[in-house]
Amino acid sequence: MRGVVMVAPGDVRVEDRPDPVIQEPTDAIIEVAAACVCGSDLWPYRGVDDADHTPMGHEYVGTVVEIGGAVENVKVGDFVVGSFFASDNTCDICRAGYQSRCVHAEPMGAIGTQAQFARIPLADGTLVATPGRPAADLIPSLLAASDVLGTGWFAAVAAEVGPGKTVVVVGDGAVGLSGVLAAKELGAERIIAMSRHEDRQALAREFGATDIVAERGHDGVAVVRELTGGLGAHCVIEAVGTQESMMQAVRSTRPGGHVGYVGVSHDVELPGLELFFSAVHLHGGPAPVRRFLPHLIELIWNRTIDPGKVFDLTLPLERAAEAYRAMDERTATKVLLTL
Ligand SMILES: [Zn+2]
Repeated sequence: MRGVVMVAPGDVRVEDRPDPVIQEPTDAIIEVAAACVCGSDLWPYRGVDDADHTPMGHEYVGTVVEIGGAVENVKVGDFVVGSFFASDNTCDICRAGYQSRCVHAEPMGAIGTQAQFARIPLADGTLVATPGRPAADLIPSLLAASDVLGTGWFAAVAAEVGPGKTVVVVGDGAVGLSGVLAAKELGAERIIAMSRHEDRQALAREFGATDIVAERGHDGVAVVRELTGGLGAHCVIEAVGTQESMMQAVRSTRPGGHVGYVGVSHDVELPGLELFFSAVHLHGGPAPVRRFLPHLIELIWNRTIDPGKVFDLTLPLERAAEAYRAMDERTATKVLLTL
C-alpha cells in the first residue's frame, strides 16, 4: 500500500509500506477513505520532535475490510470513525470517560493512518460505525470528528461551557475553531475568539464567535478583561500549547472559572504563586475523543453542524509533502488527504 513517511524533519514522502495485517483477535483493518495532516504533525516536521522514517497520521475514517476473531461491535463493510488513541472502552478509566488514557491505550500515530489501509487495535472499543454509507460531503466533517472536533469539544466540556457563559478561545487553528463550534452548540452566550488571521476570523464567526480579539499576550488579556467587565471569562479554551498561550488562557479566566487546555504542551511552565492566586480550575490533556464520537456523528449525520469547514485545502495522498508545506507555511489551516 501507499503511505506517508517522514524520512527526517521537513522531508515527507509517500512510499510503499507493508499492507497491515490482523495481529491480535481484537484488531480490525480499515480501508482509509480520507486522512489529514494535524497541527501536531508539524512538531516533528519542524524538528521539535524526532522523525526518522516515521509513518505519519492519526486521524482517519474508512471502511472495515477485515476483523479479528474477537471483534463484535463492527463488521466488514461498516463505515467507521476512530480517534488518535485506540482504547478498549471497558477499563475503569475508559468508563469514567477518559479513553485517551485507557490502561490499554495505543497511539494511532505509531501506526500511521495517512495511508491506504490501517490496522486499528481494540476495534470494538475504538471504532464507531456511522448509520450507513455517508454522503461524500459528510466525509470531511466525520474526519474532523476523529480529532479536531472531538478535541475542541472536550476542551469546551473541560472548560465547563454552558448556557449563560462567556467563553474565550485561545488559538485559531482547526482545534480552536472547533472549540468555537462546540461552545456554540453547548449554549455559550458569548464566544470571544482570539485570532489575527482574517480567513480564520470569518470561520470563527460562522461557527458562532460573537467577538474577535486580534491582540495577543498582555494586550489580548487586557481586551478580554475589558469585554468581561474587568473579571475575565467563565470558560477559556487553550488550543495551542505554548507558554504564551497557556498564560494568556489562565490570565483571561475569572477567579473560579475554568480553563480547558488541549494544545499539546511544549515547554510550558506554570508559575506557582500566580496560579495559586488566580483561583482558576485547570483541566485538559489528550482529548478522550471516543467519549464524544457517537454524539458528534449524530450531529454531523443530521447536518446540525458542519465541522468539515476547517479543511481549506484538499490534496490526494500522493501530494502529502505539499500538504505539510502548506500547513507549515500557514497557507492552509488544515489539509484533507483523499485516497
Ligand atoms: Zn480502557
